[in-house]
Amino acid sequence: MSAGSVAALSGGIGGAKLALGLYRVLPPGSLTVVCNPGDDFDHLGLRVCPDTDTVLYTLAGIANPETGWGRAGETWTFMRALSDLGGETWFRLGDGDLALHVERTRRLAGGEPWSNICGDIARRLGVHARVVPACDEEVRTVVMTPDGRLAFQHYFVRDRCEPAVTGFKFEGADNARPCNAVLEALADPALRCVVVCPSNPFISIDPILSVSGMKDAIHAAGVPVLGVSPIIGGSAVKGPTAKMMRELGFDVSNRSIEQHYDGVVDAWVIDSADSSDAPEFERPVRVVPTMMRSDADKHALARAVLGFADELRSRMGWSHRGMP
Ligand code: GDP
Repeated sequence: MSAGSVAALSGGIGGAKLALGLYRVLPPGSLTVVCNPGDDFDHLGLRVCPDTDTVLYTLAGIANPETGWGRAGETWTFMRALSDLGGETWFRLGDGDLALHVERTRRLAGGEPWSNICGDIARRLGVHARVVPACDEEVRTVVMTPDGRLAFQHYFVRDRCEPAVTGFKFEGADNARPCNAVLEALADPALRCVVVCPSNPFISIDPILSVSGMKDAIHAAGVPVLGVSPIIGGSAVKGPTAKMMRELGFDVSNRSIEQHYDGVVDAWVIDSADSSDAPEFERPVRVVPTMMRSDADKHALARAVLGFADELRSRMGWSHRGMP
């Protein structure tokens, strides 16, 4: 396997699984994970960034394996005390997790860019990868429903994704730009590929791609952009992806996912259960097991993605900048 750096676009749980696989199979320091800014919000006076924090905790090896979010071995004294006081408890913040939100909010209030803070927190958690938000500006996903607009976390956590969706808006995206760490990762002469992790296309990856200049920067990187489909066997492994696809009028299929990312993703990795979908793709496809239950699954999928990227680069004349 050739050396070189990799940039991965990721949401929270699904995306973080592949990000962890890439982190473990790549040399230390060669991965940049570009995280979804759209589900960040202000809650109880604190800035909470759920997807970015899931990636941070996952790569640091301290994520809660049961929930997929928050920290392992968490305690809940704060939530119980808040409940006793009649406070808002629909969004759960563990005691250890709370420290991250408090510290982030303090540093943001001091004027520090979120990407600097995030990079520093990653280092302090012992993560040898760059974990960065797509942008330093605020980009907020708004869910459109037949009854009007919902702030993302109200839709996702408070209302448990029950309202039907008619579309999404990414407020602030037009005035945002990719943060410097993202631009540096995409301009790295040793960049090997960009990976779109198996995350929810509408609420995890689209907010990243909506940042003004992000698609151009990815395109200008001049390396293969590989997507791992979040659809297996005609449904989503978990979460509201399939429900949203139906509500938005799409077939729940790999081909719909390919069409959704038209113009961004150059090649696809789909699950072995869906090998019969491969001929429908317009772009090159690799069929491998993509269900990541164990760490071994994550490592194997990461290796398959990187191997496919290397093949595409040589087969299709993509340059691997700076590499022989
Ligand atoms: P997030 O969007 O990254 O925050 O993660 P979710 O856990 O909400 O999952 C998003 C999408 O990724 C869903 O459509 C899942 O079906 C898909 N997904 C989750 N885990 C896996 C996996 O192990 N393999 C594949 N191929 N897709 C997955």
